[in-house]
Amino acid sequence: MKRIVLLIAMISLSLFMIGCKGEGYVIREVVEETQQTDSKKDMEDRDQVFDSDIEDNMMKQIDYKYQQELNIIDDNYRNYYEIFLYSFYDSDGDGIGDIQGLISKLDYINDGDPTTDTDLGFNGIWLMPIMPSTTYHKYDVTDYYSIDSDYGTLDDFKELIKECDKRGIKLIIDLVFNHTSSKHPWFKEAVSYLEGLGEDQEPDPKECPYVEYYNFDKDKKGATGYHKAGRSDWYYECIFWDGMPDLDLDNDEVRGEIEKIAKFWLDTGVDGFRLDAVKEFFTGQKDKNTEVLKWFTEYVRSVKADVYVVGEAWDSKDIISAYYSSGTTSFFNFPLAMHNGEIVKAVRKLGSSTASSFANSLIHIYDLYKSSNSDYIDAPFISNHDTTRVSAQCVNNEEMMKMSAGVLLTLDGSPFVYYGEEIGMNSYGDKDENKRLPMNWSNTDTRGMTRKPSNADIVEQKFPAVDEQLEDSLSILNYYKRAVRIRNENPEIARGETSLIEELIDSNILALRKNYNSSEITIIYNINNEDAKVSLSDPGLTDINIRGYLSVDGREVTLEDNVLEMPKYSIVVLK
Ligand code: CA
Repeated sequence: MKRIVLLIAMISLSLFMIGCKGEGYVIREVVEETQQTDSKKDMEDRDQVFDSDIEDNMMKQIDYKYQQELNIIDDNYRNYYEIFLYSFYDSDGDGIGDIQGLISKLDYINDGDPTTDTDLGFNGIWLMPIMPSTTYHKYDVTDYYSIDSDYGTLDDFKELIKECDKRGIKLIIDLVFNHTSSKHPWFKEAVSYLEGLGEDQEPDPKECPYVEYYNFDKDKKGATGYHKAGRSDWYYECIFWDGMPDLDLDNDEVRGEIEKIAKFWLDTGVDGFRLDAVKEFFTGQKDKNTEVLKWFTEYVRSVKADVYVVGEAWDSKDIISAYYSSGTTSFFNFPLAMHNGEIVKAVRKLGSSTASSFANSLIHIYDLYKSSNSDYIDAPFISNHDTTRVSAQCVNNEEMMKMSAGVLLTLDGSPFVYYGEEIGMNSYGDKDENKRLPMNWSNTDTRGMTRKPSNADIVEQKFPAVDEQLEDSLSILNYYKRAVRIRNENPEIARGETSLIEELIDSNILALRKNYNSSEITIIYNINNEDAKVSLSDPGLTDINIRGYLSVDGREVTLEDNVLEMPKYSIVVLK
């Protein structure tokens, strides 16, 4: 079995390396062939081990004896699930996911019943843009006060909010105000006004206020990021794409419009916003961006005191720290995310990364953010709709994928999990559409399945669909469920003041203390593919018990005579 695993790992690694060169067509064929071989081997393996292993696994599921009572606090520390509605669940058969589809699947995310363990247990949802737009991704908004007809109606959305409330789920939506769509009425009116001007005539905002909503200029500033405005003599700033003209966020009328929009959605019942592209508000001008964030955060807090705002500042820890001085609650912790971020680097031991270096990075980052905003809530994640998925980051190594998820879901703050990560869905290459593929609910039941975004490739999936994984106690899905559960049992995980237990930390072992409301827990990680023994006597952790554990292969973490026996890639919470 080990040899097979090694072989698969080597094939996967070489595929990954070829994949990096972008020979898409060839790869897909090879992947298909390899996966057929894999699944045949898997079936043979399964036949052989059915009597022993499968029964063992079922026993282990029953054997988990550390289930604690849920202790969920109704605040802004949440476990968020990021959803791209387009690819989630289709309720009306047009092949596009929609709000009613999500409502019908809410029980999968959280059924609101603490006595069941059939749901994932997430208590926050981030919806990618839902407003009318010209694209499948909907980051170019044409109307800020409505729902895209692909997704449903405002009434559907209000129903979704009600259903989320029932389940204790906070709902936040993507708010995109760095730019609008070039098809937004503001931009269309501005361009048609400019087209009507004579050669030497200056635009008059009294005649058309919208000419000051955007950054129009007679000169094309720089090689990229500016585009000709229709048939006029003017250019406009568009940092991402000519279909998305940048708004001038220094303009008071623009700010007034954004306040009206934010208030509209808060009044509709959303709990907060994910702010898109904050570092492009004024590209390259950190201080001006911070001022915009401060203005927005203060405004939405004046409407709803406990509003949650999380900003997308795709940047280094120092820049993110600077943005925290705006008072904005959260920023996505990009330094921890992606294939070259601290989490996956630590789990895969890439470069010189060890459990010890990861521990020090974490504390350094937390100190840095806290120095800017003592009330900050970290927003760690590994993947989102713009990045490769965890499967690709860990080259389909299931144990490393689980361990990465276990680390993410035991970190400070409000972790974000992208839909489909809980079943190890795959992404492929750099193309965005391949990172936003249909949620794989079932391979036998096509109900609710969406069609892939039109530019997406057929990406082979290494791991089974939701329905199959729900039945397998050792699946990635059941690992996520246990991890979220442990988080929901121990409020110290999200909220505790974190410190290192230096005596236990080495290149494989990470050990943290977390203190919250005079309650202390200890979390110990064996970030290694070999089992470990950890003596708790040295740091004086003698009066302590296991609260719960996560292991990648179903084996138990045990504690006897102050010595922890930790299977490879396991995590234990003690108190
Ligand atoms: Ca639909």
